[in-house]
Amino acid sequence: MAGPEVTLSFDNGPEPEITPFVLDVLRQRGLKATFFVIGRKLADAAQRRLAERAHAEGHWIGNHSWSHAGPLGERRDAGHAAAELGRTQAELGTLTHSDRLFRPVGGGGRLGPHLLSAEARDFCAAAGLTVVTWSAVPGDWHDADGWPDRAFAQCMAQMRPVLVLHDLPGGAMRHLDRFLGALADAGASFRQDFPDEVLLMRRGLPCAGLDSFVTPPEMQGEAA
Ligand SMILES: [Zn+2]
Repeated sequence: MAGPEVTLSFDNGPEPEITPFVLDVLRQRGLKATFFVIGRKLADAAQRRLAERAHAEGHWIGNHSWSHAGPLGERRDAGHAAAELGRTQAELGTLTHSDRLFRPVGGGGRLGPHLLSAEARDFCAAAGLTVVTWSAVPGDWHDADGWPDRAFAQCMAQMRPVLVLHDLPGGAMRHLDRFLGALADAGASFRQDFPDEVLLMRRGLPCAGLDSFVTPPEMQGEAA
């Protein structure tokens, strides 16, 4: 029986303490992933060089907001989404993928209307962004040793899982190589592209179900 086809993504970096290690693991295993980076981190020359290395090694680089200041749908201040996304697109420059990948901040990995504001949606449409969510969030950022078992179960339960991990310090990534090996041993394969199920917009055009990921303007700012 064919195992799942897993798409790997690493959010919230790049970080000098851990991103080089993640890149080494992926290179040794011949795997390609997407790094959804935080824009303001690229303003640091050393961190930008890590994104450049990832890009040069065949990984895709996506926008994960400028400051990671919470889900965009929970903000009512005009201009916030445009600043978070636009400034990061500008900082990415030639590192950006041709589909202009953007992953909204989930706030603990949650999916729902808090992901986008109407302003964020309109900005993504105008900028031709591809909005990418996820389907497996094992919580590596708060459980450095427990995440691999959850990630394995979440991936094996789906045909096309899109896994979110984080290239952040904290120790979780010390399990990355062993985890990837366990998946491969269980029959999983890896691919870099994203299945339609996790796309909210493709190059600025809405995908089915987009509306359920946008906070209605009259609700904005009222969510907890
Ligand atoms: Zn994030």
